[in-house]
Amino acid sequence: MEIAIIGAGAAAVSLLDALSLTQHRPGGITVFEDSPSWWRGRAYQPDADAVRVNAPPTLMSVRASDPQHYARWLTEHGGHDHVDRLLGVPIVPRAHYGTYLAASADDAIARLRSHGRRVELVADRVTGWDAARATVRTAGGGVYPADRLVLCAGGGHPRDHYGLLGAPGFVLEPYPLARTLADVPPEASIAVIGSGLTAVDIVVTLADRGHTGPITMLSRRGLLPAVQQTLMPLTFHHLAHQRMPDTVAGLVTAMEAELAEHGQDLAPLAAELTSTEDPVDRLRRQLSEVDSPYLGRRLLATGIHMFGSAAWQRLPAQERAWLRDEALRTVNSLASPMVPGNAEILLRLFDSGRLRLLAGTVKIEPATHGFRVHGADEFAPDIVVNAVNPVAHSVPQRSEVLVASLRESGVAVTGEDGGLTPRDERIFVLGAFESGTSFVAPSVQTLAVRAAALAPRLAQ
Ligand SMILES: Cc1cc2nc3c(=O)[nH]c(=O)nc-3n(C[C@H](O)[C@H](O)[C@H](O)COP(=O)(O)OP(=O)(O)OC[C@H]3O[C@@H](n4cnc5c(N)ncnc54)[C@H](O)[C@@H]3O)c2cc1C
Repeated sequence: MEIAIIGAGAAAVSLLDALSLTQHRPGGITVFEDSPSWWRGRAYQPDADAVRVNAPPTLMSVRASDPQHYARWLTEHGGHDHVDRLLGVPIVPRAHYGTYLAASADDAIARLRSHGRRVELVADRVTGWDAARATVRTAGGGVYPADRLVLCAGGGHPRDHYGLLGAPGFVLEPYPLARTLADVPPEASIAVIGSGLTAVDIVVTLADRGHTGPITMLSRRGLLPAVQQTLMPLTFHHLAHQRMPDTVAGLVTAMEAELAEHGQDLAPLAAELTSTEDPVDRLRRQLSEVDSPYLGRRLLATGIHMFGSAAWQRLPAQERAWLRDEALRTVNSLASPMVPGNAEILLRLFDSGRLRLLAGTVKIEPATHGFRVHGADEFAPDIVVNAVNPVAHSVPQRSEVLVASLRESGVAVTGEDGGLTPRDERIFVLGAFESGTSFVAPSVQTLAVRAAALAPRLAQ
């Protein structure tokens, strides 16, 4: 059995780890990666220290069956240097987490080889799969055996929504921030397009570099990521994969029942979901609630990552469309919160007047020097940095040719959500562009759970 894994990011690391713990028929595994960022992908490449992971160690283990796997590695590799004051757990630079991914990949490969499996790493882009010959081909002209094809190819790439590409001072792909912000003068006026986790990364990195100029976040809805709360043990009694509600109202009732199990009420969570509170007031309030005993936000965030895709698949098309069009930002904000350490930096900058968040639609144009932003508030930033991440399920740029060829040969089709659905039982997708998954980007934990479920199927 020859397994081809396309892409070497966190998903591939989890899959290799899971394969190394699974009984398999003899054969080989070939991993393909088309960037220098082996095992780290876009998220965990070398970058500034201010660019931190956004989850506690127990939620970032690559091994689903062992949530302490990463926490143990961290105790031996400097985790204590980066403890988040309010969470009380290490929140390390993302590049450091990348070192854990690389170490985990090395361990998994060593284990696989010690079991007699051949593991080959190929630095090339996969461009097609020949179903009849069971081989993949690469941009470099290579042909490799592939009885099973697993696309661990990540998500899409940032889009140039305002047509600014090529304008001096415009940054489309912000990562690695250590490079893209390196030449930004400290007094420059900066506009950040977006107000999600990437925008937070940009602002805290600028702050860390001693930026003194004004920073403006531009956001259609004016919503910041929620502030992460301390971990509490959570068990679900009413939400389960086997009996998933098939309407939004059913999901709300289930969440109400989960909270009732703890003697708590749905009202504060409902208020979080529907509130029109000022974003800075919300940030301040949520920072004061980091260790609140109320479980609503914790249950919602965990529930979305654990059951989001199963629930998503059961909802009627109309409700899916409503969620995607109307509720996406609110749900994402609660499902993928920022760590309190970053929230404190943001609040300090808001309070000092050096950071502001402008809500509403704007037009951005290059000007003779810098840019002009037209909207409710007109201003002229020197630099514009994009922080809008690709839409859910978009095809990763490096896999566009591969995906087109899979579709052309009829072994995969595009789902209603734009993601990929295999039509051949030898093809698997593990990651953000798998059709049928929810619109919330998969976390490390979600990828690890899916990898653990996939590994035994690849052995058959
Ligand atoms: C900026 C950012 C920060 C995040 N931070 C966190 C966090 O702190 N905690 C958390 O739980 N989750 C986080 N996530 C979510 C998730 O953990 C990451 O997105 C994760 O890195 C996804 O891993 P992946 O392997 O699916 O994709 P990627 O890391 O994108 O890896 C895919 C790889 O496939 C390669 N590739 C694609 N197509 C081909 C091809 N045809 N041939 C060869 N190679 C190919 C690419 O070069 C890439 O290296 C973050 C996501 C982002 C974008």
